[in-house]
Amino acid sequence: MHPLYEQMETSVFERMSLAAAKHGAVNLGQGFPDFGWPDEILKAAANAVVVGSNQYAPSRGLPALRAAVAEHYGRHHGLDLAADHVCVTSGATEALAAAILATVEPGDEVILLTPAYDAYAPLIRRAGGIAREVALQPPDWRIERAALEAAVTQKTRALVFNNPHNPTGRLFDAEELSAIAEIAVAHDLVVIADEVWEHVLLDGKSFVPIASLPGMEQRTLKCGSAGKIFSLTGWKIGWVVSSPEMASLAARAHQFLTFASAPNLQAAVAFGMAEGDAWLQPMRDRFASARNRMMEGLEAVGYAVLPSASTYFLCVDLAASGIELDDEAFAKLAVEQAGVAAVPLSPFADQDKPRHMIRLCFAKRDDTIDAGVAALAKAR
Ligand code: PMP
Ligand code: GLN
Repeated sequence: MHPLYEQMETSVFERMSLAAAKHGAVNLGQGFPDFGWPDEILKAAANAVVVGSNQYAPSRGLPALRAAVAEHYGRHHGLDLAADHVCVTSGATEALAAAILATVEPGDEVILLTPAYDAYAPLIRRAGGIAREVALQPPDWRIERAALEAAVTQKTRALVFNNPHNPTGRLFDAEELSAIAEIAVAHDLVVIADEVWEHVLLDGKSFVPIASLPGMEQRTLKCGSAGKIFSLTGWKIGWVVSSPEMASLAARAHQFLTFASAPNLQAAVAFGMAEGDAWLQPMRDRFASARNRMMEGLEAVGYAVLPSASTYFLCVDLAASGIELDDEAFAKLAVEQAGVAAVPLSPFADQDKPRHMIRLCFAKRDDTIDAGVAALAKAR
């Protein structure tokens, strides 16, 4: 097998979901909610299938959705955006692929903060780039300016900045954002900003997009996802938002990745975004209480849980929980013998692998959480 494919293993999310199905386990691995999506958007989608278009959408996206996305971020981020800043993609995964293909040339280095979402490194390598890892250390997972600065070389072209952060659930603070922006400006880097979790904020904090910092708007390719905004992860409607010039580059790559995304789902997302933001706070409240329930349940049976301020995820420190197995061995035992799927963290880094951490998805109904916690109680 070509070495590039050896480095493109089956995604840990697919691996754990298949294992959960095979063993009939509660799936707290792959991140998707089992409740909480807005019914009106489902109806808008059904209507768009029956009376709307089922033929190819314009490659860059339905005009109504591009306008809605520009309006949404203009309002939330205080930026002056229009439809030509937006390219609609098939989920944030395709947005990341298009952003990376639009930016990275063979030999370019791209900085990743690890543990890093699993799509980045394989995409960078297939674009001919080199992923340079800067490891964040538990339990704080802080971005240290000196470590970031030390990773920049003459060849550094871009930095992938995922905020809020999957898998740790961290929302980076103002000092960390300034470090990213100042280093990007000083070294003329493009920032691929994976901000898919921007609205899933659990403790009343606000999210600051990296593009809003001085000097960043022109060098940021933001990747977003309707799947996370509306709790509809299977819809795979996402977007790149950037300057018109950089959005056009991403759009050129997007033409040859998927060309266009499902028109009826785009229409339903446009409808949802135009409805306003009334659903956001109830969603945050429900996910915050789900996080609290899982955290309290796990702590009651002896697990050491790390704080989580965003995303659908919390991490458990196995070593601090008195468990000697590493993350992969524990996840295997949990799914095969205890009946619960988790995600080990070591696939989220190539070098400094966090081998004693697992990630659990708390975006679940109470009964799912309780069943998962009961199974995890048996796994220790
Ligand atoms: N980036 C991050 C950090 C994610 O967590 C996810 C999905 N959980 C994605 C990208 C992919 O988003 P989508 O499902 O819209 O492709
Ligand atoms: N992003 C989701 C997660 O972190 C999984 C998406 C996928 O399966 N590719 O769990």
